[in-house]
Amino acid sequence: MTERELIIIGAGPAGLTAAMYARRAGISVLVLERTIAGGQMRLTGEIENWPGLGVTTGEELSESMHNQAMGFGAEFMDTMVTGLIPASKGSGPFHTLKTIGEDLSAKAVIVATGAYHKNLDSRKAQKLAGRGISFCAICDGGFYRGKEVAVIGGGNAALEQAMYLTNHASRVHLIHRRDEFRAHKVVAERLLRDPKIVTHLNKEILDILGEDDVEGIRLRDKKTGEVTDLMVPGIFMFIGSAPHSGFLPAEIERAEGGWIVTDRTLQTTVPGIFAAGDVRDTELRQIVTAAADGALAAMGAYAYLEGLR
Ligand SMILES: Cc1cc2nc3c(=O)[nH]c(=O)nc-3n(C[C@H](O)[C@H](O)[C@H](O)COP(=O)(O)OP(=O)(O)OC[C@H]3O[C@@H](n4cnc5c(N)ncnc54)[C@H](O)[C@@H]3O)c2cc1C
Repeated sequence: MTERELIIIGAGPAGLTAAMYARRAGISVLVLERTIAGGQMRLTGEIENWPGLGVTTGEELSESMHNQAMGFGAEFMDTMVTGLIPASKGSGPFHTLKTIGEDLSAKAVIVATGAYHKNLDSRKAQKLAGRGISFCAICDGGFYRGKEVAVIGGGNAALEQAMYLTNHASRVHLIHRRDEFRAHKVVAERLLRDPKIVTHLNKEILDILGEDDVEGIRLRDKKTGEVTDLMVPGIFMFIGSAPHSGFLPAEIERAEGGWIVTDRTLQTTVPGIFAAGDVRDTELRQIVTAAADGALAAMGAYAYLEGLR
């Protein structure tokens, strides 16, 4: 089993930034990624809130962060981590990482595995995921060129994706269960000016219509009780998110919902294991905060490793 100084799980903006900072501090770094470098950032069409670049795309920023981390000498491996055994359980100073391939070990670990979007808790919604229910407008929006689609949710992701979808769809129905959006004011104001978006506030979802593919959505108005069917072939779901933290041991404390609790150096409740980015119990989940977390966690890991040396 190869032993390393630092293993980073996840190559989103948190993991990639951590890799850069750790390499610049002279630590040997291996980054494990189960899909492709960039994480959720790669799914984003236009990014206009990464400081200094004006407008860029998720793909460009992902490529550029990945290249920068590799340029500093970070190693990458395509694999999925399935378990983590803390050093305290008997392997000296090394934490053991179980992957779908070989076991790996490292003196310090940064968990930067991000989060994912939730689906509705119904059998029909689970069955129709990928058959008209999507969680990524950038990936699937093109399938609905000239058609009407629905977006579910009231946060930033829902509103931004609704606006993106107007590039493809003839009309976008934005459905939200409350009477106002949770999204930032500037995003909500921009959305309300968009003539291709119809908002449906105070609407509860009763059913997804269609057996093999999505045909529509049945809604009930929470104030009047009126039931309506909105016939759309595509539903984009942005109703909240959950962290990729299920593979971690119980010793790593998590807040309600599974978000990882850290101290101010981003160390978890297990010494030598750090968390960064969306997977962490934090107030804001964005590219810039994930990157900042990556830098802090790398410096935390550096201080921890210096203490071991
Ligand atoms: C559609 C969309 C639009 C967005 N738009 C913006 C925007 O305009 N501006 C902005 O600032 N933010 C935006 N965000 C949010 C932003 O993308 C995230 O906050 C940011 O990517 C989080 O970074 P992260 O590194 O913490 O996690 P992620 O980006 O989620 O990366 C985590 C990585 O870990 C990998 N991983 C997970 N589990 C494992 C495992 N067990 N083993 C190995 N690898 C694993 C994943 O494959 C992934 O690549 C958007 C998000 C979405 C979904």
